[in-house]
Amino acid sequence: MFRYERPQAGRYRQFHQLNLEAIGEVHPALDAEVIGVLLELFRRLDLAQRLTLSLNSIGDAACRPAYRDKLVAYLRQHAGALCEECRERTERNPLRVLDCKKPDCQEVLDTAPSILDALCRDCAEHFSRVRQYLDAMGLTYHVAPRLVRGFDYYVRTTFELLTGELGAQNAVAGGGRYDGLVKLLGGPPDPAIGFAVGMERVVSLLPSDSHEAGALALLIPLGDEALVRLLPVALAVRSRGRAVELAYGARKLRNELDRANRLKVPYVVILGEQELLKGEALIREMGSGTQRSVPLAGLEGELMALPVAR
Ligand SMILES: [Zn+2]
Ligand SMILES: [Zn+2]
Repeated sequence: MFRYERPQAGRYRQFHQLNLEAIGEVHPALDAEVIGVLLELFRRLDLAQRLTLSLNSIGDAACRPAYRDKLVAYLRQHAGALCEECRERTERNPLRVLDCKKPDCQEVLDTAPSILDALCRDCAEHFSRVRQYLDAMGLTYHVAPRLVRGFDYYVRTTFELLTGELGAQNAVAGGGRYDGLVKLLGGPPDPAIGFAVGMERVVSLLPSDSHEAGALALLIPLGDEALVRLLPVALAVRSRGRAVELAYGARKLRNELDRANRLKVPYVVILGEQELLKGEALIREMGSGTQRSVPLAGLEGELMALPVAR
């Protein structure tokens, strides 16, 4: 993704998003499911406990215009206490004023009319059912009546996943319903809901060692025949989730052991002429220098069973 406007602090001009869009269903259970997928993603990344889900409904074309008028009237009354940007937004995009983090504006907003009091019956019913389904799934959230989206095509369910750890740029994901957008772009009147996750922000929350895990072993064939035997082992072990490095059999053992030290691998596997004849391979633990022979046919299993030193 590329940002057109000048990036604020903590934002990048070029960045990556992970998106989910669920198109074609208006039922509030879909809203709850989509939020469930988002939370499950972060649970698997072991980040769920450090994030909170904010949830709101921003109404629809039936009820939002009346709320907007009410909000504008209130904001005009308190224009003197608002920052310049909020005074300008009051006329241009009043819902966005609810986003302002400046303390003076926050004070005004604390007593501003709430969108949740202005929802029409259908929107209120939708929101209460989304909450009911989230509760049924045991998913926790807090209702944030000032959570809004910047674009008019968003309706009803709106949510953000927030962290207290990244300063002012505290949303790692955001989403909502956009029932009118597909039609607006010339398509059928399909309802839809989705979210976007800011990948750079997620990465910055992950522990730094989680994307620097080194290889488990360097596989050292001595000669091309040994290489042919080790290639499929490397492929199999990698496909089962363990990282291994493979030498190509062209260099001397001493050079490859030097390389193993540079790579800081805890193990090397040596397959020389003698081992090939016996149908065995040597597994050497680099720290202690101890080594043992294992049947070549069982090498994949042996590599998968090696303890990973931390
Ligand atoms: Zn403001
Ligand atoms: Zn409504």
